[in-house]
Amino acid sequence: MTGTGEFAGKTVLVTGAASGIGRATAIRFAAEGARVTIGDRNVAGLEETAGMMAGAPIVQPYDAVDPASCRALVAAAAGDGLDVVCNIAGILKWGPSETFAVEDFELVLKINTTSVFAVSQAALPHLIRSKGVIVNTASAAGLSGIAYNAAYSASKHAVVGLTKSMAVEFAAKGVRVNAICPGHVETPMTAQVPPMEGDMDWALVMRNAPKLLDGSCSPDDIADLFAFLASDRARKITGATFAVDGGQLAG
Ligand code: NAD
Repeated sequence: MTGTGEFAGKTVLVTGAASGIGRATAIRFAAEGARVTIGDRNVAGLEETAGMMAGAPIVQPYDAVDPASCRALVAAAAGDGLDVVCNIAGILKWGPSETFAVEDFELVLKINTTSVFAVSQAALPHLIRSKGVIVNTASAAGLSGIAYNAAYSASKHAVVGLTKSMAVEFAAKGVRVNAICPGHVETPMTAQVPPMEGDMDWALVMRNAPKLLDGSCSPDDIADLFAFLASDRARKITGATFAVDGGQLAG
């Protein structure tokens, strides 16, 4: 359901908006009347997304590994206040834990977890004023382990943890914080599934994800939940995690 104007007068920040789930979510909020700021390190992708959106989005390149850049992104979005933050930027790196570089482990945590904290921290003063909403992107891998995904899975479990903690910390101030846990979604991230190398066994990856392929979701399926959780219809929902995974986790 789009075009209802549900977010008219609201200011929304969407990170990771250059492609995939972030792009679909930015398009959705703009279609519902929000004033949207889009952030990503992929400038060409951001411009492309802006061209697909209603209204005149604020386009703000940033690098999630840099907390100062995260703060600048929030400042650009919050000129007239801020109502909704959708933390969607992320990367996927995987490999056997015996050989996975510690530097890559730290990079995954920086982008997938620390930047969520940095953006949220900068946004909180504005969200407390507006009684606003944070919606984070965890993953099915944030609720269960997946072979060769120790870094990614750890980063997404951490997103679930910070979501619950911030929800408790800020509930009395009227700020809601929730997390979405997508299963397999067709996006540029999953189009570049890393090669299976050495002894890596695809069947092991699939073990905890029996619906991984045939339960596939589209970015719009995920954008629907972002819009719901950001809306007043979800006014009593905070500290919650929601799987949108075609039954992957249930399996
Ligand atoms: P995507 O690659 O299309 O989008 C990720 C975006 O994050 C990209 O536009 C990328 O440029 C941006 N990004 C990466 N590093 C950045 C950095 N350092 N600074 C700023 N921007 C950066 O992938 P997607 O599938 O749309 O992923 C969106 C989110 O959904 C991610 O957090 C991902 O972990 C999560 N997720 C995806 C799936 C899936 O199956 N696609 C499943 C579960 C969770």
